[in-house]
Amino acid sequence: MDAFDSIHPVPAAWLRASALAPYVPVYWCHLVERCYAPGTVRMYLCGVAHFARWSRRRRFDLGHLRREADRFLDEHLPQCACRYPVQRCRHQIRAALRQLQAVLADAGIESDDHRFDPIEVELRRFDEHMLQAKGLAENTRIRRLSVVRSMLNQTASAMPTAGELRHFIAQELTRICPASAGSMATALRSYLRLRAFEGDRVEHLLPLIASPACWRFAPLPQTLSRADVERLLDAFPPGLPSRLRSYAIVRCLVDLGLRTRSCKSQRPCNSELNMMLSASSIRQIS
Ligand SMILES: [Zn+2]
Repeated sequence: MDAFDSIHPVPAAWLRASALAPYVPVYWCHLVERCYAPGTVRMYLCGVAHFARWSRRRRFDLGHLRREADRFLDEHLPQCACRYPVQRCRHQIRAALRQLQAVLADAGIESDDHRFDPIEVELRRFDEHMLQAKGLAENTRIRRLSVVRSMLNQTASAMPTAGELRHFIAQELTRICPASAGSMATALRSYLRLRAFEGDRVEHLLPLIASPACWRFAPLPQTLSRADVERLLDAFPPGLPSRLRSYAIVRCLVDLGLRTRSCKSQRPCNSELNMMLSASSIRQIS
């Protein structure tokens, strides 16, 4: 199937009329070869088509794609009034344009923004390492790049000192949750391993990156003992609000073996509950 024929004729026409047209078939192959789902490939093509439509009068140099893409995402998309059919999903378009930058770079069109920004050059090398040596998914690479970009923006060079790394981690831990702290630690370790692979000494830095503690609850017993069950069934004194309802719920758990979710979903008209209430349970509490 032709790349242009795979999407709606209108966005396909936007692509054909743009400076990106010669690269669209390569872009399509780039995504297909990386096993992107057909629906995602179409979404990405439509996202690039929206960008192509917006940029048709700007006549920008393809070497400035990143800067124009940021402008499109930050300035145009929030107030986009383009007519149907346009793809407006920000994260989809951002990912689509990121892939487009990679395709243009492979075609020899170096981004000016990347060429002169040492941090972006370093991040691009890190991204290539994650993709080619580790085979990481795009979302994982984007998260790790975001962490490393934040760190490199605070360090004097691509190789942080122990003090810089310690300060960055402490600063991040004040604003992120434990789960994100784990992701941050993984991203930083991954980046330092790349530096080590290239000959830098990182032995003194790796111990500074501690993963957050992940305490597990003490193992709970799989079942209650008979004595525990009896104590539970006796825990409904006459003055307890909603006594009958509470007792009925516990009988559902004990007699019918229902799970918590099933028990919560029971309604008074439910036949199982009515059967249970009309049987031994009611007799025991009355
Ligand atoms: Zn628009």
